[in-house]
Amino acid sequence: MKTDQYQHPDHYQMDSLLSDEHKLVRDSTRAWIKKEVSPIIDEHFENATFPKHLIKGMAEIGAFGSYIPVEWGGFGLDQISYGLIMQELERCDSGLRSTASVQSSLVMFPIFEYGSQTQKEKYLKKLATGEIMGCFGLTEPDHGSNPSGMTTNFVDDGDYVILNGSKMWISNSPFADIAVVWAKDQSGRIHGLIVERGMEGFTTPEIHNKLSLRTSSTGELVFQNVRVPKSNILPGRNGLGAPLSCLDSARYGIAWGALGAAMDWDQGPSSSAPKLL
Ligand SMILES: Cc1cc2nc3c(=O)[nH]c(=O)nc-3n(C[C@H](O)[C@H](O)[C@H](O)COP(=O)(O)OP(=O)(O)OC[C@H]3O[C@@H](n4cnc5c(N)ncnc54)[C@H](O)[C@@H]3O)c2cc1C
Repeated sequence: MKTDQYQHPDHYQMDSLLSDEHKLVRDSTRAWIKKEVSPIIDEHFENATFPKHLIKGMAEIGAFGSYIPVEWGGFGLDQISYGLIMQELERCDSGLRSTASVQSSLVMFPIFEYGSQTQKEKYLKKLATGEIMGCFGLTEPDHGSNPSGMTTNFVDDGDYVILNGSKMWISNSPFADIAVVWAKDQSGRIHGLIVERGMEGFTTPEIHNKLSLRTSSTGELVFQNVRVPKSNILPGRNGLGAPLSCLDSARYGIAWGALGAAMDWDQGPSSSAPKLL
């Protein structure tokens, strides 16, 4: 049986499909995880806490905005490299991968693709370095699989809009500095708005006692007459296709992550999957 350089079975000879750069990205991610994450992750899984001290290291290995161009603070890597980083993160812990997916695909991606020049300048580099963290608010208590039914909405108020509603099951919300929130305007059209922590009427209660993804912090987003500047609305795209395009990017990374969880059979301490004996 063929094995990769770590003596893991490589039934489909995946290694032969990777370039030297891909292997470098994968191996440096793996090395960082073995040194910094594997020794401490089980405790965070048990306590259901997100290891915030890892944010800087995650940024340094390119877990935030891997494929965002370098000029915007990203790493300018290709999609396979992004996938390999997600694979290695989830090989250790699904919650860590989830945090990185949200920051990259659900926060940086929509700001990069649909944001104004000012929004990109204000947020992207800080998101890439982990100086600020973001979350993505689409799901609502009564509208999960059917996001078009959302009731979160905003009305015009001069240079501002007034946002009302709530979002449920939002990864990273309890500690996020900004939220990319999807809400309907007065004509029922869906737009993305960047809501900042500290805006009056905006709260992020945490959801406790999850059975899985325990190192990922999950919460609600509650908007009670939040005054959001119109300049915080993503101008580049509206309609349901905008948030769904973000989910496409996230799901790509999640698929790689699932491969990582499946590979995690001999890697030492880990919480993402039971060990095969
Ligand atoms: C840990 C965690 C983190 C999350 N992070 C985020 C996040 O960061 N941002 C965000 O916006 N959302 C997030 N979500 C929400 C997630 O996207 C939703 O849970 C998902 O969309 C399903 O919605 P729901 O939970 O309301 O389930 P429901 O829509 O109520 O579905 C329940 C069940 O019914 C089935 N079902 C639903 N409709 C139909 C139908 N028409 N026909 C047949 N079967 C159907 C579903 O497949 C499912 O099995 C997160 C969820 C979890 C658990």
